[in-house]
Amino acid sequence: MTKTVTVLENILNANDRIAASNRAQLDQADVFGLNVMASPGAGKTSVIEKMIAGLSQELRMAVIEGDLATSIDAERIEAMGAEAVQINTGGNCHLDAVMLQEALPHLTLEAIDLLVVENVGNLICPSNFTLGTHANVLIASVPEGADKPYKYPGMYRGVEVVILNKIDLLPYVPFDLDYFRQGVEILNPGVAVFPLSCRTGEGVQAWLDWVRLRVTVSVADKIPATRG
Ligand code: MG
Ligand code: ZN
Repeated sequence: MTKTVTVLENILNANDRIAASNRAQLDQADVFGLNVMASPGAGKTSVIEKMIAGLSQELRMAVIEGDLATSIDAERIEAMGAEAVQINTGGNCHLDAVMLQEALPHLTLEAIDLLVVENVGNLICPSNFTLGTHANVLIASVPEGADKPYKYPGMYRGVEVVILNKIDLLPYVPFDLDYFRQGVEILNPGVAVFPLSCRTGEGVQAWLDWVRLRVTVSVADKIPATRG
């Protein structure tokens, strides 16, 4: 029993070291990295498509697609005109820092401002593996039900943003928005929550504004201040 725990701790420590090296590579190239996590079908790829449509005039974007086996999502991203790198995890249910490390050389980081990483659809273990990105985003969706923060607390604790997708379905699906928001707030006080619909476009602009601001601030941070 103790041995198992030790092995897992070693794996996580090794992952964190590689994540730190990934972060250093992104920072050196002034790339802001976003790790997008969600259950299958919540709309990760759809949200990323909205980001490409709304931001690619002003930000140079690339997407890394983590998938169990297929390249369906990577093809959707390329159809939008953005660069996509596919990671097939070979059945692994999450991305880890090694997988991102292996994907990064396929991109010209100096030519990118924003790197979006679409994690494998899963609400459990992706939150245990840091990748080296700058912010974690969780996409929930109305059909999944309002109890998800309560059932998957680990996922909700480690993120900087919660998107609630498919709000166009609120009139048709039982979903207690206050109960959902309370759960999110208990687990992650003050976290930014963006209710939106990729289908109708409602709420998408507020999310894009957040991304735009974070990318700009992150790059500005690294420009040496000049005086006088
Ligand atoms: Mg997807
Ligand atoms: Zn996993």
